[in-house]
Amino acid sequence: MEKCAKCGTTAEEILQTGFVGCEKCYDLPTVKKAVEKLFNGKIHNQKGDN
Ligand SMILES: [Zn+2]
Repeated sequence: MEKCAKCGTTAEEILQTGFVGCEKCYDLPTVKKAVEKLFNGKIHNQKGDN
């Protein structure tokens, strides 16, 4: 199971609660997919924002 490198929250946890631990959690592929579904495009995609 994927795990956030920054805060240690697992993708499973995030899927169950619907909450991420930090912004890095969105880097997990599973979470990325899930949030797109959960929030239905409410969250802006920040591609290449460094
Ligand atoms: Zn995190």
